Amino acid sequence: MSDQLYHECHEVIAQGKAILEDLQQWGFETVIPLPVEEASLRITETQRPFSAEDGQKTLAALEDNLNGCSRCSLCQQRNNIVFGAGHPQARVVLVGEAPGREEDLQGYPFVGEAGKLLEKILLAMNLSRETVYICNVIKCRPPGNRDPHPDEIVACEPFLKQQLAAIKPEIIITLGRFAAQTLLKTTTPVGKLRGRWYEYEGIALMPTFHPAYLLRNPSGKRPVWEDMKQVMQRLENQAK
Ligand code: URA
Repeated sequence: MSDQLYHECHEVIAQGKAILEDLQQWGFETVIPLPVEEASLRITETQRPFSAEDGQKTLAALEDNLNGCSRCSLCQQRNNIVFGAGHPQARVVLVGEAPGREEDLQGYPFVGEAGKLLEKILLAMNLSRETVYICNVIKCRPPGNRDPHPDEIVACEPFLKQQLAAIKPEIIITLGRFAAQTLLKTTTPVGKLRGRWYEYEGIALMPTFHPAYLLRNPSGKRPVWEDMKQVMQRLENQAK
């Protein structure tokens, strides 16, 4: 083995160890139910009548429809519309609230601090950004990260619904209050909703806390991990 390869391997192992230690500190056990590809992308023809290419085209057409959107006043201050990102045939779609500062600047969902934590949670679930799909209820940043207004949710919700209809995931994970309340048409607090299965248009939906909430309230990590274990179990059962 060359010196360079040796150092690269060493580096990868060190990074892996650091991530594992980090996860353990967060209270996550590492449970590896299936290899990543299988866990997140196992697809049967009956479940997925459309090819990944068709799914990608539908999502791209939807994104085009949003181009230059001025359906609500959030268009006035945004830098980018944050449509969503991930696999067009993902088994799992995660729905957040709205882009923050970093997301608005980069045009991608969950790329700030909350996004880093979300990546760790996905890693612990043996999933990744590439194999799931991540989007938000609201596609433009509310100024100062304020809560979305009802009229903004009404204006943007059709796009979320069409994204979910195009991807047809097996599981939707809602992150925080707005995503759960919007999709489930309820005003029940997320603390009461989380941890149980619901149904949205025939798709299993698990509400959990938002990663930004976890950054402020570390005691929420344990319940989130309990919720994610239910998601992993369902993915594993449905893949059998
Ligand atoms: N919070 C969200 O709800 N969505 C993002 O994309 C980033 C932070």
